[in-house]
Amino acid sequence: KETLNLQVRDIAASLIEGEVSSLSKAITLVESRQEDHQKAAQAILAEVLPETGKAVRIGISGVPGAGKSTFIESFGLYLCALGHKVAVLAIDPSSPVSGGSILGDKTRMEKLSRHSNAYIRPTPSDGEFGGVHRKTRESMLLCEAAGYSVIIVETVGVGQSEADVREMVDFFLLLALTGAGDELQGMKKGILELVDAIAVNKADGDNLKKALLAKEEYSRVTMGINPATMGWNIETLTCSALYQEGLEDIWKLILAFMEETRQSGVLESRRRNQAGKWLQSEVRRMLVERFLKDGEVRSSLQLLEDRVKEGTVLPAMAAKELIDVYFSLNKK
Ligand code: GDP
Repeated sequence: KETLNLQVRDIAASLIEGEVSSLSKAITLVESRQEDHQKAAQAILAEVLPETGKAVRIGISGVPGAGKSTFIESFGLYLCALGHKVAVLAIDPSSPVSGGSILGDKTRMEKLSRHSNAYIRPTPSDGEFGGVHRKTRESMLLCEAAGYSVIIVETVGVGQSEADVREMVDFFLLLALTGAGDELQGMKKGILELVDAIAVNKADGDNLKKALLAKEEYSRVTMGINPATMGWNIETLTCSALYQEGLEDIWKLILAFMEETRQSGVLESRRRNQAGKWLQSEVRRMLVERFLKDGEVRSSLQLLEDRVKEGTVLPAMAAKELIDVYFSLNKK
């Protein structure tokens, strides 16, 4: 126990100094499901907390093929050249069915990952209830404490993950493709209610004209959308991640956004609300985790599940019985 305490203090101190190996160690502890690792992770987080909150937190989403990794590599290198330290946390909502990874095994962001001002870390998905998002949030705090001034959280444009990312970032950028009409058909329009800006990527070569048209189409569509950030209208731009065009405009837009929301108090209230919601989701996650770990619950669950499958017990009744078992056991 003593050695763990020492380690915690060591890791926290050198992490704050910007030591990358300590940052990685801390994130590994955050990601671990082992109880003593979890304890150490929480102790490190508590220790570094005063150093957090200083970064610009950016979420980036887009369908597979939209150019996310190309964009983050170009944009990240651009920011590094400006002297920023950039951390990229990629959420990989791997399919629980295939076990495969959506982000893929290809080497992503090779140049950026070699840059001394950049830190790239994918968050592994393990199907744990809400766990990925806790890990990403905590990793984000660790990166901030380690001196990263821009944090990019990348998510694939599928499923629930955008809504979760919205809850952890300041600014949310959607990377879109041309053929906005078609894309909007296939895409849940709901995502437009989460974003602060849409950048139509691949605005280069033969595609440039189409990209400009798509941008117009997007700005028309977004006019009727209730903005995610109070007082901020969704901006639409074009860029070419491949040819590094439009990156400066995007960064300027983000800086203007940060300035405006800081002035108006929207940034602070967003971060406060995010913390509140984080607490609530932690309560839910921990309850479910403890519940499912409970020996009594597990054996009753097995039996009840069989009955539910046979059709002799209704699911809601079975669930109530399980909950009653758990809470009567845990009543002190
Ligand atoms: P992701 O799945 O969203 O991460 O997309 P990738 O970054 O892997 O890009 C998908 C494909 O689009 C790759 O072949 C890229 O080279 C290409 N691509 C990405 N950005 C651009 C761009 O700005 N212009 C062009 N022409 N191609 C791009």
